[in-house]
Amino acid sequence: MECDWLVIGGGSGGIASARRAAQYGARTILVDAGALGGTCVNVGCVPKKVMWHASQLAEGFHDAADYGFSPGRVAHDWPALVARRQAYVARLNRIYADNLESSGVEWVQGRGQFVDAHTVQVGERKISAERILIATGSHPVWPDIPGAEHGVDSDGFFDWPTRPAHVVVVGAGYIAVELSGVMRGLGSAVTHLLRGERLLKTFEHDISTVLEDEMRATGIDLRARCQIQSVERDGDMRVAHLSDGTQLRADAIIWATGRQPNTRDLGVEAADVVLGAGGEVTVDEWQATNQEHIFAVGDVTGEVGLTPVAIAAGRRLSDRLFGGQKDRKLDTRLVPTVVFSHPPIGTVGLTEEEAIAAYGVDQVRSYRSSFRALYYGVMDRKVQSLVKLICVGDEERVVGVHSIGMGSDELLQGFAVAMNCGATKQDFDDTIAIHPTAAEELVTLR
Ligand code: FAD
Ligand code: NDP
Repeated sequence: MECDWLVIGGGSGGIASARRAAQYGARTILVDAGALGGTCVNVGCVPKKVMWHASQLAEGFHDAADYGFSPGRVAHDWPALVARRQAYVARLNRIYADNLESSGVEWVQGRGQFVDAHTVQVGERKISAERILIATGSHPVWPDIPGAEHGVDSDGFFDWPTRPAHVVVVGAGYIAVELSGVMRGLGSAVTHLLRGERLLKTFEHDISTVLEDEMRATGIDLRARCQIQSVERDGDMRVAHLSDGTQLRADAIIWATGRQPNTRDLGVEAADVVLGAGGEVTVDEWQATNQEHIFAVGDVTGEVGLTPVAIAAGRRLSDRLFGGQKDRKLDTRLVPTVVFSHPPIGTVGLTEEEAIAAYGVDQVRSYRSSFRALYYGVMDRKVQSLVKLICVGDEERVVGVHSIGMGSDELLQGFAVAMNCGATKQDFDDTIAIHPTAAEELVTLR
């Protein structure tokens, strides 16, 4: 065999696993078809967060007058921002390549396809491996409607050379919420369509209600139970025909309607690897497929689609297979997550509804506080914050922390550590608050 560990996919999960395996001395080859770093670095977390920072700054310029500044009219240069953002991404691509080299991982550029259960073909080259990792990620899905091609997905959003004046955003998940906020913050008119009743329907209800109120307050035209049935071009404009019989004219449409695993052209049938109904590679708690030497991590498994989850799965798998840590595996019971909305959301653990379903209504107690961050004290613009704690049992073990409002993105990580340690409401209460912050609300709840 040419190598011990063959990784297909150079994104968050694949790179993390490949480097960890090589550090243990495994002969490791990584195959990647795109730009190194995968979705997160190239068309996900990183460029998205740059855009989020830009729109936060735009808000700051609006707010500055209430803090005594006379900033005048601040113009925004979209192409300049995009150029800087892409230069940063290119820098990260180079850093990832250097890291692979310094870790002793051989990087093969190209699309990998199984030839048999131990061999993957990349171009003309056939690579045989003792063990193989599938870490090929996911891709955006588009609605199956006439004219869908006149819109873009999140990948296409990052290609925009200029800022469209009016954008329609479709979807109710992470990407829809984040891109809506970015575009509105940077000055575009935004119409946001969701097919259901509410945004982020798997999140704590109170949190999504605050989010919807605040998005509307920024001027986003948020329409529930509204779908696009077809799209036409009229010169540079898109004309969307809506389910309520009306039409919408806009410069651009973003489909933020979910993602699907990248397994279609992988040739998994040649390796007899079983896929689930959604095309995901089916794995057990050890990331193992039905083939004992083939594993999968990250978005391709249909697990929680977050970078740190893919990284943890990849590293822990290598710890187990090559580092002698036989019990090491991913634990997805407590996955903290942040939505970079305006305002941001941080959440970890169970919602109140989930806790009641799991423990029974008598066992669950929730605490909440609704407030406005001190930042808005001197300002005419007011943005609501809300924190909520979900506790279970007589000892009131904390099983859910939910927060929306300024600072929610950065405050969450520490609370997730506390929950991992089994913290109770009393532990929260016994912790001295940090004043004046949003985080202190979580240790002063009554
Ligand atoms: P990827 O990172 O997608 O990597 C897969 C790699 O496999 C790619 O490089 C691809 O080129 C390669 N590949 C595919 N098929 C083949 C093949 N046949 N042969 C060779 N190579 C192949 N997560 C967060 O935690 N925080 C965020 O803020 C966040 N923001 C996001 C914003 C957006 C717009 C999007 C789309 C996603 C965001 N995510 C975020 C999710 C995160 O990007 C993914 O969960 C993460 O990248 C998954 O890692 P992965 O290793 O499974 O796959
Ligand atoms: P999500 O799965 O979060 O949301 C998909 C949304 O698309 C749902 O709200 C769904 O609506 C809606 N939808 C599906 N089909 C249609 C349709 N035909 N018409 C209208 N709406 C439709 O996917 P995203 O694409 O937003 O994000 C993918 C994943 O990437 C996330 O789940 C997350 O794991 C990750 N991510 C993480 C981020 C972060 O950590 N900050 C940021 C961005 C992405 P409904 O609710 O009605 O089912």
